[in-house]
Amino acid sequence: MGGSVHELVILGSGPAGLTAAIYAGRASLSPVVITGLRSGGRLTMPPMVENFPGFPDGINGPTLMKNTIEQAKRFGASIVSANAKSVDLQSRPFTVNTEETSFSCDTLIIATGADNRYLELPGEKELIGRGISTCATCDGFFFREKDVFVIGGGDTAMEDSLFLSRFAKKITVVHRRDQLRASRILQQQAFANPRVDFIWDSVVEELIGDEVLEGIKLRNVKTAEISEHRCDGVFLAIGHIPNTEMFRGQLELDQEGYIVTRGPTRTSVEGAFAAGDVVDKVYRQAVTAAGSGCMAALDAERWLALHP
Ligand code: NAP
Repeated sequence: MGGSVHELVILGSGPAGLTAAIYAGRASLSPVVITGLRSGGRLTMPPMVENFPGFPDGINGPTLMKNTIEQAKRFGASIVSANAKSVDLQSRPFTVNTEETSFSCDTLIIATGADNRYLELPGEKELIGRGISTCATCDGFFFREKDVFVIGGGDTAMEDSLFLSRFAKKITVVHRRDQLRASRILQQQAFANPRVDFIWDSVVEELIGDEVLEGIKLRNVKTAEISEHRCDGVFLAIGHIPNTEMFRGQLELDQEGYIVTRGPTRTSVEGAFAAGDVVDKVYRQAVTAAGSGCMAALDAERWLALHP
């Protein structure tokens, strides 16, 4: 499949990339989707997706993405299980390199998404699903009447705390400063919630527990005092890292590394479009990602029509 020049290559196989593939396939562009490390993207993780329209009883994440891959294939998309390592957007056609091969293309849709930011502490990854979570909406239900900590001071941390207060007995927000970054309305709601407490100026020093999380050690960044807390769950809400490393120096990125678009999927390079969480740091929903994937495909199709 390397060798020839494709009209469109899509990087990423989450809702944005696959929706782009469905639309581009139906427009007879024979898109090539390079899936990335996890075919189907991050939506293959939640056991139940309840807010995707059309599924009144919810649908599990892996099934939703498997169906979407099948739908894209039905319209002629080629799905390549590979991870793009580098791109060349300076010369035309563009080049996308994976470990095994290279692809040339006239247009590119970047839908590489964003990953959760982690604390980078020993044992953290091993304890995911065993007390540590990056998704309160997915896992909150399992913490009924439990003590949980939420790490972070942004909108996600506040929203997660408020959501968790429906289940957990006590929620303690740990923030590394003495002022929240979250919007005022969410701050007010969190402050007013009797189940939500705050520990300020503190960072997580250690996660306690081998098989399951048993507690956390915090360090006060002003006094250096260490405190130990028993808890059943820790929800990380310390932001996301867009997967844009390979575009650095080739595409305009904002300060946080998200791809800058105008109009709304055109990047700073003609013929290269971006959609989904790699652009969007505000909504970050499967349905908004899918919508922007659709827009990127329509924009790529129009661009190809204007540049035969
Ligand atoms: P965010 O705004 O980047 O906030 C991340 C928080 O984590 C910040 O308070 C930050 O502290 C803290 N943090 C970062 N790295 C840390 C580390 N290593 N250790 C400890 N703390 C750390 O991320 P977000 O809350 O996920 O929000 C992302 C975007 O989505 C924002 O634009 C937000 O407005 C939007 N969003 C909106 C809604 C809504 O409107 N309903 C809901 C969720 C998200 P500092 O404050 O000190 O930097």
